[in-house]
Amino acid sequence: MKNFFEAISNFFASLFGKRTPAPAPAPQPKPTSQYDRKRDEVEDSSDVPQDTVTTVKVKAVLPDAPGPFADDDKEDAIDKAEDEEPTPGPGTDPKPDTGGTTPTTPTTPTTPTTPAPKPRYLWCLDNGHGKLQPGKRSPLFEDGTTRFFEYEFNRDVVERIMKALDKHGVKYFDVVPDFNDVGSFLEERVDRANKKKSDLDKIYVSVHSNAGPAADGEWIPNTIKGVETWYAQNSKRGQKLAAVFQKHIITQTGFKNRNLKSTAEKPLYVLEKTTMPAILTENGFYNNKEEAAELVKDAVRQKIADAHVEAILEVEKNGIV
Ligand SMILES: [Zn+2]
Repeated sequence: MKNFFEAISNFFASLFGKRTPAPAPAPQPKPTSQYDRKRDEVEDSSDVPQDTVTTVKVKAVLPDAPGPFADDDKEDAIDKAEDEEPTPGPGTDPKPDTGGTTPTTPTTPTTPTTPAPKPRYLWCLDNGHGKLQPGKRSPLFEDGTTRFFEYEFNRDVVERIMKALDKHGVKYFDVVPDFNDVGSFLEERVDRANKKKSDLDKIYVSVHSNAGPAADGEWIPNTIKGVETWYAQNSKRGQKLAAVFQKHIITQTGFKNRNLKSTAEKPLYVLEKTTMPAILTENGFYNNKEEAAELVKDAVRQKIADAHVEAILEVEKNGIV
């Protein structure tokens, strides 16, 4: 994956980098017709003005797993589903009717004693941006040739998530497996998820990395960093979901907790237009120099993917109402 990343980075560096002599402006990738982004559609939190954002603090520590954030945000913590009794899944067997008698000899089970839990949801996994989308990349790293590309990160993390979900028998839908010819693709992402037929309830998870405001080619100050999870304003289930994901990502990565976010004024398109509970995770800032150096690491990407999987398994177990 590292080689792949470098190859892609080098390719783009050759298109956009300082080393390319540019007698004429470098050709911009052509937008992809009807799926190109509309001007007023906000695709991730990089385009949301801070003064329109509502922040809900979330206690980002797992029970029994005291970490560096153990004392953070206690006073504002959201009560979460850990306190609730997990409801039995649809596959739970009813108690056998013994007719009032107590069997004296237990019958030997012929099937495994712990059957695999039945899938509860279809997870619509959205990898954020397309390769043809302009922007959404870091300034050049110190080697002068490579950059961080958000589409590549998002896609890599989603692929890691899908691989793990296969092992756990959790059902998912890869919303944008397309690779080469995809730009923003916003409406199509939402349409595909909304139209996907499923007997299971659907949940939408969009995986991103963040960018703070900066002059062209500049890194943002190191004070701007960390993880935030977005939900559609007034979506109670979205907020609960966001809390579960934020908690696991912070605990796994140790990144700064920027809590849960929503906005009414410039709502994020995929959260607003999907017809199912939806969240969008912003996993670190790729135009923060230190954080970008973390986000290219295989181990860090795996932790971020693992955290998403843990969150999914928690929701599979407890449900979301
Ligand atoms: Zn993004």
